[in-house]
Amino acid sequence: MTGLDELPIRDDLRGLSPYGAPQLDVPVRLNTNENSYPVPEPVVEAIGKAVAAELRDLNRYPDRDALALRADLAGYLGHGLSAEGVWAANGSNEVQQQLLQVFGGPGRSALGFTPAYSMHPLLALGTGTRWEPALRGVDFGLTAQEAVSQVRRHRPDMVFLCSPNNPTGTALDPAVIAAVLDVAPGMVVVDEAYAEFARPGTTSALAVLAGHPRLVVTRTMSKAFGFAGGRLGYLAADPAVVAAVQLVRLPYHLSALTQAAARAALAHRAALLGTVAAIMQQRDRIVTELRRRGLRVADSDANFVLYEVGGDQSAAWRALLGHGVLVRDVGVPGWLRVTAGTPAETDAFLAAVDRILSEAAA
Ligand SMILES: *Cc1c(COP(=O)(O)O)cnc(C)c1O
Repeated sequence: MTGLDELPIRDDLRGLSPYGAPQLDVPVRLNTNENSYPVPEPVVEAIGKAVAAELRDLNRYPDRDALALRADLAGYLGHGLSAEGVWAANGSNEVQQQLLQVFGGPGRSALGFTPAYSMHPLLALGTGTRWEPALRGVDFGLTAQEAVSQVRRHRPDMVFLCSPNNPTGTALDPAVIAAVLDVAPGMVVVDEAYAEFARPGTTSALAVLAGHPRLVVTRTMSKAFGFAGGRLGYLAADPAVVAAVQLVRLPYHLSALTQAAARAALAHRAALLGTVAAIMQQRDRIVTELRRRGLRVADSDANFVLYEVGGDQSAAWRALLGHGVLVRDVGVPGWLRVTAGTPAETDAFLAAVDRILSEAAA
């Protein structure tokens, strides 16, 4: 077989390996922040019917602009949004790739505050955008002052903010977003993949979209909706941003099946989002229980928890895997990220933590 290095690939891709969390077949999978609850049976039936109704017409291309789906998404988001201010693609990763294609690219830069979502720099790489890793402050926090000084120093074409932040879990103070909007010379993207799990009182950047034509808020159906396999992400922004993204999107990027399935899922959102409260309970339980065991834990507004293992995180990751529990090593030295799922999954995770702690003490 030909080696990758024998092919004339781009210099900036040489020596890299493809990104992806391990997809291991273990009893308790708490590593990719999926919703642990399967799609409820009535919703399975509704999606099945909606998809079946499309099958005869698969000889035709789908609605290129996905207008009906975008109107449904706007209705879900509220904030006075309509289809013109909403755009959808195959996951919010694709939405963000499109944003980088149109607002970033060769000769341009994007900045994010590390540790944050590891796909942001990878999407920048793939689109030839220079990535500027800015830093978060103590305990993974970020103040308006820290954010502003780094944006002023680098003057990036795009700023990526993640709120609630993956992998730390904590939502940003709205004052940070406001301050970055004030000083950023280009676009500001707020990744709100976990917005539905935020603690009461947390505000969405959707509230300040009006009057900020350079603000983009990205969302996904992969987490709270339990629709990760359906691949549907979306953004809300000024209609001009939606028009700009259409310059780079592939024609017919969203299949008729995806559009139909996502619309049926949205129509049953009460049932799908019905698991969010239970997941938030398990999230809070994990935070409380780990702190009770003397471990440091970041505040979480998401469906996962970042906690300090007290030692080498890759050894701790392997030890948990040995007890049948798969969590995520996000590359933050000394810390691991665990997804909040069902009560039984929390039981299994905490039992494994206890066994490891008592083995270490013995
Ligand atoms: C999981 C996640 C996404 C979701 O990506 P999709 O492509 O919509 O599945 C986006 N942003 C962050 C920060 C995430 O953790």
